[in-house]
Amino acid sequence: MNQAPVFFISHGAPTFALEPGLLGPQLQKRGARLADVKAVLVVSPHWQTRDVKVTTTQTPETVHDFGGFPAELYTLQYPAPGQPALANAAAQLLTDAGFATGLDAQRGLDHGAWVPLYHLLPKADVPVFQVSMPASLTTAQAVDMGRALAPLRAQGVVIVASGSMTHNLYEIQQPDAQPEAYAQEFAAWVRTAVQAHAVKPLINYRSEAPHAARAHPTQEHFLPLLVALGAQQDGDTVQVLDGGMTHGVLSMESYVWGMPR
Ligand code: ZN
Repeated sequence: MNQAPVFFISHGAPTFALEPGLLGPQLQKRGARLADVKAVLVVSPHWQTRDVKVTTTQTPETVHDFGGFPAELYTLQYPAPGQPALANAAAQLLTDAGFATGLDAQRGLDHGAWVPLYHLLPKADVPVFQVSMPASLTTAQAVDMGRALAPLRAQGVVIVASGSMTHNLYEIQQPDAQPEAYAQEFAAWVRTAVQAHAVKPLINYRSEAPHAARAHPTQEHFLPLLVALGAQQDGDTVQVLDGGMTHGVLSMESYVWGMPR
């Protein structure tokens, strides 16, 4: 079987589920072309734990883990089944790579998982499981996590690293506000580095990228990009999914590796 692709998807605000914007249709187009997919593994910033956890839930519920949004958002369901066997395989790979890893047979899908999948795989017919991020995860360790998980791609597991290209919630504006220049400059720097597969500068992004600390006051929404880079393999080409900017400061820039154009 061919290698399943790897995605980094900026999920922005939870309202992305209702407002596909520029990115939603690009995800839907890619999702429709996925073939022979056995499961989707999601790394989401909305699940941080002490050690790594992997969900082995049989039928994960859709968790609406956000407050103060339109009522319609709380009615959305993403009823994809789990995939405990492949989740166990993921846990074993992480253990073998030196990550203290446990299982969670109860947890559902947080919005970092189901909101992007709502566009990528709208039928919710492909099994999904999640891998948590340790609260202490560094950028270098995030790359190691991705490297550990990469062999799953040959088993038909699509890796979706869900985060946000920029994520300063203190500066959120109206959904259609003019993009802030600093967020655009940060996203442009990252795009150049990703296209060059410059992993080291990305590991050191906090000192090397312009406006890094402003774009990410905390880095949990950026770390999934490093997981995705680690899961990349020789021969993968990257496609930029230009999602534009929402709320003035939330870049929806996303990437997919290892997928035919
Ligand atoms: Zn988020």
